Amino acid sequence: MARLTARSRHIAIAVGGVMALAGVISGTVAVATEDSGNSSGTSSVELTVPSSSDATRSKPTTPPADPGPSGPVSSEMAHETERGGKSVALTIDDGPDPKWTPKTLAVLKKYGIKATFCMIGPSAKAYPDLVRKVLADGHRLCDHSVDHNTAMDKRSEDYQKQQILDAKKMIEDVADGAKVRYYRAPGGAFTPYSRQLAAANGMRPLGWSVDTHDWQRPGVDRIVETVKHEIANGPIILFHDGGGERSQSVEALSRCIDWLKEEGYGFDFPKI
Ligand SMILES: [Zn+2]
Repeated sequence: MARLTARSRHIAIAVGGVMALAGVISGTVAVATEDSGNSSGTSSVELTVPSSSDATRSKPTTPPADPGPSGPVSSEMAHETERGGKSVALTIDDGPDPKWTPKTLAVLKKYGIKATFCMIGPSAKAYPDLVRKVLADGHRLCDHSVDHNTAMDKRSEDYQKQQILDAKKMIEDVADGAKVRYYRAPGGAFTPYSRQLAAANGMRPLGWSVDTHDWQRPGVDRIVETVKHEIANGPIILFHDGGGERSQSVEALSRCIDWLKEEGYGFDFPKI
C-alpha cells in the first residue's frame, strides 16, 4: 500500500518534484484563466458552497454528511482554496492510520481547522471508524488510489480506472453517505485520462503547492521552514498521516498552523 520500497520512494521524490514545479506553473495559468472571465469554475463553486440556513448554523458541532458536488466538476488541477484570498488548504495523505490519524485529528481539532484527507482505499476499508471520525470532525475526503502506485501514469487506462474507482468505492462504502470530493494521484502521477475520469465521478483532481517532504522525516524544524519558504508558491499544503512513522508530521503540523495564523492566513478546503 503506502509503504514503498526505498527505490520506489526515490521515484516518488523525482515525480513529486516535477509535479510540484508543474503545480506552480499550472496554478498560475489557472488564475489567469479565471480572471479572464471563465464562468464554468465559478458556477461549480457556487453550487458547492454549504448552506448558511439557520438549520445548518444551529448544529455547528454535528456537520451533515457531505453529499458531494451537485454540479459538474472541473478536470483541471485544483491549486486554489475555495474562498481564495489569504488562505491555505491543509491536505493530509496516505492514511487513515490507526496511530497517526487520531493524533493528526487532535491537532486540527485543537485549532478548529478543517483539512482534506487523501486516503488509500484498502486503509479506509480496514479502518472505517477513522473515516467516520474524519467526517464527524468536518473534514473532507480525497481518493488516493488503491495501491499508491507512483508510476500509475505509465499504466493502462483500465488500470488507472480500477485504482481510482475501486478506492473511491472502498472509502465511500464506510463514509455513511458522504462523498469523496477530490482525487490525488500517488506521487502526483496524474494523466489527462485520470483527471477526466476523476472529474466525471465527482472528484476534483487535487495537486499541491507546498511539498513539506514530511514523510522523509527531515526534522520538524526543516518541515516548518519548508512551509515558510514555499507558501508563496500557492495555498495547497501537503502533509502525511500514513505510510510510516509520522510523529514529525504531527508536531510540524501544529507549529505550521501556529505560524500561518500569526501571518494572518485563514484555513479552507481546496477549490472544487
Ligand atoms: Zn501519497
